[in-house]
Amino acid sequence: CGIVGYIGKRDVAPLLLEGLQRLEYRGYDSAGIVVTSPKTPGLKMVKAKGRVRDLEAKVPARFKGTTGIAHTRWATHGAPSDVNAHPHMSADSKVAVVHNGIIDNAADLRRKLEADGVEFLSDTDTEVLTHLIARSPAEKLEDKVRETLRVVEGTYGIAVMHADFNDRIVVARNGSPVVLGIGEKEMFVASDIAALVAHTRQIVTLDDGEMATLKADDFRTYTTEGTRTSAEPTTVEWEA
Ligand code: GLU
Repeated sequence: CGIVGYIGKRDVAPLLLEGLQRLEYRGYDSAGIVVTSPKTPGLKMVKAKGRVRDLEAKVPARFKGTTGIAHTRWATHGAPSDVNAHPHMSADSKVAVVHNGIIDNAADLRRKLEADGVEFLSDTDTEVLTHLIARSPAEKLEDKVRETLRVVEGTYGIAVMHADFNDRIVVARNGSPVVLGIGEKEMFVASDIAALVAHTRQIVTLDDGEMATLKADDFRTYTTEGTRTSAEPTTVEWEA
């Protein structure tokens, strides 16, 4: 339902929790967050059924990071629960995905993955994305995501983090909004500009079939086929 992400130098958890609060008006049943930093590689995750403040109460004091993604979930596949909340991580804890939308062929993809020995933790349609990205033989994170999206049918706005590529967040859109917020040596992503305008008014709206790579000091957009797209930020007017 709601996505917010950040890469830069700030303490990311409070920033993302505040962003999730700005998306609460859309409705949701659970929430979650994953963070990392160049100094402490590896992904740290907390998820909770209920309100953003329930998630906040579960976040440990030493949940430090400068890159992260967070989500409020409106369950479509699998009951509202801690486990079904996003992000969804791969078994080796290297890949984390948040997703808005519905993967129509998730049951089919799940059967194939399970036949291959993959163990699923949740009942969501989203979790297939996590395993497909984690198992992709492609070298670059962007290509792992691209190959995954090639076999997926349905709607998505996704944000992906990978422990081995922790200088970036990769996002993609098909039928579910994704907007980038361009800052000074920091980048934001969200499903709704309401989560961004406190931080930047420089916005790039992704089109369907478009992806983006966000790094702290740089971003680029391209199609799911890999062709670069032009992305001039526009300045949004917004009454706070
Ligand atoms: N279909 C996904 C799920 O049920 C995402 C729902 C959403 O957009 O929040 O977990």
